[in-house]
Amino acid sequence: MSEVTMDKLVNLCKNRGFIYPGSEIYGGLANTWDYGPIGVEFKNNVKRAWWKRFVQESDNSFGVDAAILMNPRVWEASGHVSSFSDPKMDCKECKTRHRADNLIEDYVKKHKLDVDVDAMSQDEMYKFICDNQIKCPVCGKCNFTEIRNFNLMFKTNRGVVEDAENIVYLRPETAQGEFVNFLNVQRTARAKVPFGIAQIGKAFRNEITPGNFTFRTIEFEQMEHQWFCKDGTDMAYYEEYKNKAMQFYNDLGFSKDVLRFKDHEKLAHYAKCACDVEYLFPFGWGEINGVHNRTNYDLSRHQEYSGKSMMYLDPVTNEKYIPYVIEYSVGADRLALALLANAYHEETLDNGETRVVLKFHPFIAPYKVAVLPLQKQLNEKAKQLYKMLNKHFMCSYDEAGSIGKRYRRQDEIGTPFCVTVDFESLDDNTVTIRDRDTMEQIRLNIDELVDYISKRVQFN
Ligand SMILES: [Zn+2]
Repeated sequence: MSEVTMDKLVNLCKNRGFIYPGSEIYGGLANTWDYGPIGVEFKNNVKRAWWKRFVQESDNSFGVDAAILMNPRVWEASGHVSSFSDPKMDCKECKTRHRADNLIEDYVKKHKLDVDVDAMSQDEMYKFICDNQIKCPVCGKCNFTEIRNFNLMFKTNRGVVEDAENIVYLRPETAQGEFVNFLNVQRTARAKVPFGIAQIGKAFRNEITPGNFTFRTIEFEQMEHQWFCKDGTDMAYYEEYKNKAMQFYNDLGFSKDVLRFKDHEKLAHYAKCACDVEYLFPFGWGEINGVHNRTNYDLSRHQEYSGKSMMYLDPVTNEKYIPYVIEYSVGADRLALALLANAYHEETLDNGETRVVLKFHPFIAPYKVAVLPLQKQLNEKAKQLYKMLNKHFMCSYDEAGSIGKRYRRQDEIGTPFCVTVDFESLDDNTVTIRDRDTMEQIRLNIDELVDYISKRVQFN
């Protein structure tokens, strides 16, 4: 089996309709991508699997879908207005913008120096770059502007007059939508602490760091679960959510050697402790989710900034307190990319041909079944079958090319089952059903198909 590379993944995604470059006919827009017909099914299934595990199968978690645009005070309370920024500098020669800390990190790595970039002030970073004559990675000169902090939030204006009064931000994280609705959900769901609020939605960050395909994008989707609990129980839940996250990935088909926990050395202003789960991408280890103990920071800040009490009243003990929060936050696009890389296999067949096959867990496969008539005269029967099956599953219908080619096309998008209609089907109402991974075929009556497939595409 040859190794999966990012190039292979990007090409397969583009050619099979998973993911295209954003606004491609205009030359694209850096770090934006569009999911195509196959990709949207795939990503929706990834989100469904997560929701099923963390909302549907949890007895005390509830979903929300909050607005992307929030009252700007939210971002003052959360700390994003004052401290969500990167130190950037412009190259005066070629006019490109760079992160000062990244330039130094690359230099330090290359020269094997013992320098802690995170501990440097802006002035120290600037001095270090000048002293060492660190060069612009684009043009190779060392002629930069001073370092300035650029906030990573996208700003826009509400209404017709552009002034500072009506600035709104595209949310840089979905979490605040859960926090500001803490009491709404608690009251309407009649929830008792500990309980969870989950949300899947878009977030936006104005980053300039190059992307590695859909790994780092300026617009991305988060799947977040905030667990509200009492101070003192927080660390046990922190460990519990680390385990739950890992179990979820194992159940999706990741082996243990391609995943690892990485503890944060530098903690965000709100966090008591934090770690990532990393996947071994073709370009190296990369974060697919974070688990954070956010303490009662967020709710306390919202209480302070909104003037509304965020206290929870325990109905049994009559105790009043602001709950702690354990956050489990997954990048939906990153998990999807990891699942693609993990599923990618190249196999040499008996006839010497190579087959590319995506061995997805059937639940997340874009199509569950493809209907393939062996000959033109069988199209009518096959179309009837397709119409029957697509009431139950996302289904593909393909009558073009040799049966071998059609199997290859389905293998490349990870379709777990191919159903072939042949002349026998006309006589006895049976079809062959082929398994994607073993390529073995069995014969089944058409009446048994829905049941057979349903049982094999579940995620539990
Ligand atoms: Zn330059």
